This record gives sequence, C-alpha cells and structure tokens, in this order.
Amino acid sequence: MEKIVKLHDKEFRTLIPEAEIDRAVSELADKLNADYRDRPTPLILGVLNGAFMFASDLVKKLDFNPELSFVKLSSYCGTGSTGKVSELIGLKNNLEGRHIIVLEDIVDTGESMEHLLKSLEGHRPASVEIATLFFKPRAFRKDFAVKYRALEIGNEFIVGYGLDYNELGRNFRDVYVAVG
Ligand code: 5GP
Ligand code: MG
Repeated sequence: MEKIVKLHDKEFRTLIPEAEIDRAVSELADKLNADYRDRPTPLILGVLNGAFMFASDLVKKLDFNPELSFVKLSSYCGTGSTGKVSELIGLKNNLEGRHIIVLEDIVDTGESMEHLLKSLEGHRPASVEIATLFFKPRAFRKDFAVKYRALEIGNEFIVGYGLDYNELGRNFRDVYVAVG
C-alpha cells in the first residue's frame, strides 16, 4: 500500500516495499555465496552510515564466514584548488592479500566509491568488489566495475532502509521517493 511520509520540508511516497528489497538482498547474497564460498576469509567493509541496514540484512544470508567491519567517508572542503576531499576513516584491518567486498547503500555518479577504491588499492588487497544495494545506471560516470547490484533505479532521490534525507528516514523499512 502506498504511503506518504514527510521529512523536514519534503514529502516522499513508497517506491520499493520491504518485501522487494528483501528479495533483492537474498539474490545478491546467493551470488556472493557462490563466488566467495571457497576463498580465504573475505572481509566485508560496510560504508557508514547508509549501508548499516543493508549490511545487517545481507550478512545474515551468507553461508560463508566473513570478517565484518565498517568505514566512513568523511567529506570536507580542502583549501586551495583541491576542492572537496574524501578521507577514509575507521580502517583497522590489515588489508594486504585480503578479498574485500565493499557494501554501499547507493552508487550514483560513482565519485565517492572511486575515492574509496583508490584508498583501498593502496593497501594491496587480493581483490576488491563492490556490492551496492542501489545503483543508478543513468547517473554513473566512472569506468570501474560495480559487480554486485541488488536494485537499479532511475535518477530519482530515494530515502529509507539506511538512506537519509538530511539525516532522517534511515530507519524506514521501505524505500520512498521524493514527491514532485
Ligand atoms: P556518488 O558519489 O556515487 O554520486 O553518490 C554517492 C552518495 O550520494 C551516496 O553514498 C549517498 O550518500 C548519496 N546519494 C546518491 N543518491 C542518493 C539518493 O537517491 N538518496 C540518498 N538518500 N542519498 C543519495
Ligand atoms: Mg553512501
């Protein structure tokens, strides 16, 4: 059933119900199970804050034993010509030789994921793949592979299931889209 919610100044309506998200997360878990079952302890890196709910639901559906850790990309305005800089914080594990699966809530243009991938490559992991809950194929502008995508959407702005509008809406079990 369609529902309208208000966050700050904006109204949102139901776009993807909980059951559909759950199905897509299960399908993604099946792919990871097939691809990682026989590898030495994969390391799952969830990207906070957005991926917390996705990570929580996904790891319950895995039938191999990963390590699980979280990182955060903090954006700040650098001085001079560099403009916006992203710094990866919270990385504690030794990544060298590890098979890493990055869990993201959404890949839009791919800009922030590109920063993250560059930071990870410096640690010489054995492999890095991206598993994203949402992917916006029409907005994506980069050339790295986004191998695991649970759901593809258009260029609309969505909230819920971890994703926020100015920090609200992350707790919703369904996903909503801005109205108008
Ligand atoms: P990108 O760097 O790929 O353009 O954007 C990635 C980040 O922008 C995401 O991690 C997320 O924080 C934010 N973002 C992009 N699209 C959406 C959206 O539709 N809804 C929300 N809530 N955040 C989005
Ligand atoms: Mg994010």
